[in-house]
Amino acid sequence: MKQWQCTVCKYIHTGDEPPEKCPVCGVSGSKFVLLEDETVSEAPAAEAPEVDEKKTTAPEKEAAAENKAANDTETPGAPPLKKEGRVAVYMEKAAELSVKHHAHPMTVHMPNGVIPVAAILFILSWISGSPILAKAGFINQVFVLISLPVVAMTGVLEWKKKYNQALTTIFKVKIGAAAVTTTCCIASMIWYLVDPGVLESSGAWVFVVINILMLAAAGVAGHIGGKLVFKD
Ligand SMILES: [Zn+2]
Repeated sequence: MKQWQCTVCKYIHTGDEPPEKCPVCGVSGSKFVLLEDETVSEAPAAEAPEVDEKKTTAPEKEAAAENKAANDTETPGAPPLKKEGRVAVYMEKAAELSVKHHAHPMTVHMPNGVIPVAAILFILSWISGSPILAKAGFINQVFVLISLPVVAMTGVLEWKKKYNQALTTIFKVKIGAAAVTTTCCIASMIWYLVDPGVLESSGAWVFVVINILMLAAAGVAGHIGGKLVFKD
């Protein structure tokens, strides 16, 4: 059986033909490439060294590509790069490390863990009439807001470097959900700062809806992220 890999999200499909579209990221089947037959266990012993050689050359190729990238920006023997050039090289390196070590799925746990707490605290404050719970909800949102720029930055880097800025439905929905989460968080915080008694006012239900929307949007973004990471 042949194996086909999605060039956008790296999903692997087994079958004689590539799928019509990728079940994970949604790009068309034309973006799938046929993987070389890697049935190592079935390969005769005589062919084994060849397979091993293939394995060792892959990282070498990667290293060569990395060196090439470095040389493109910094040619040996050339005068040292200006400060801006050096900064660009460091930024590029930081971006590569961020994607390699999964900075986005890691950092996104901060807002995704805290957002439900904030929403629940506001709802409890609304039901019980206790202002201290609303204050606790607001403080939780401060931590969400602090983490969002890092989450957005690592997310964009991953989208650019790992998924070639593919704009299929799944990525559009994910970007939209992130935008809704951020907007709702900022709106809720500003509203609370302007009127700390909002949950005792007649507009309390709108405030609660904003927070539920924030929770739902974060859930959607997280669900899609999980789909992309686990490919199921
Ligand atoms: Zn895909």
